[in-house]
Amino acid sequence: MTQKILVVEDELDIIKLVRAYLEKAGYAVVTATAGQEALSVFRHERPNLVILDLNLPGMDGLDVCRALRRQSDVPIIMLTARLDETDRLIGLEMGADDYIVKPFSPREVVARTRAVLRRAEGEPVKPDVIAAGEISLDMPRRQASKVGRPLDLTTMEFDLLAVLVAHPGQVFTRMQLLEQVQETAYAGYERTIDAHIKNLRAKLEDDPHNPRFIETVRGVGYRFIQE
Ligand code: CA
Repeated sequence: MTQKILVVEDELDIIKLVRAYLEKAGYAVVTATAGQEALSVFRHERPNLVILDLNLPGMDGLDVCRALRRQSDVPIIMLTARLDETDRLIGLEMGADDYIVKPFSPREVVARTRAVLRRAEGEPVKPDVIAAGEISLDMPRRQASKVGRPLDLTTMEFDLLAVLVAHPGQVFTRMQLLEQVQETAYAGYERTIDAHIKNLRAKLEDDPHNPRFIETVRGVGYRFIQE
């Protein structure tokens, strides 16, 4: 089945380029050049993944990301021309799964699209359910729950939680976590893990400032607290 990618970008040259490479890689491509249009195309076309420019006229990329997240856990790759880390992290805090900084090569877009989709589909896993304490993850359904109550996690959050819960008590560095959840782990991107952990805690913990589940190991990384 052909997978469909929604590309949201107001620069027509970029749309044209990205479309050409994605189509060559076998994907169907639909496009939008503004935020509201993106939401309506999303509803009608139900794409498998959204490539979303941060800088759009009117409703910007973050607003679109937020709006998409309210209705779907579709994988989202943000495009950004802003190089500073804060903006990147904000993108991830809004629930994006990955981001690409402009100028990018269209090949990178195809590679990231493939990687994020593969992750979203979930590679074949051995155990059907991974559980530790109050948290359990139904791997085939990709549904996490806390004492039976479903948690609404993004693809990246689910994958991170799965790694941590599968190894309670084990400390992971940010780089190790990044390697576990991404096809390609880029040095220097380790801090993005912090943003995902922060989001996870907000959904998981009774009090995110006093985490009971995911512990920060100062100077090292994170671990799932063994009961
Ligand atoms: Ca733009």
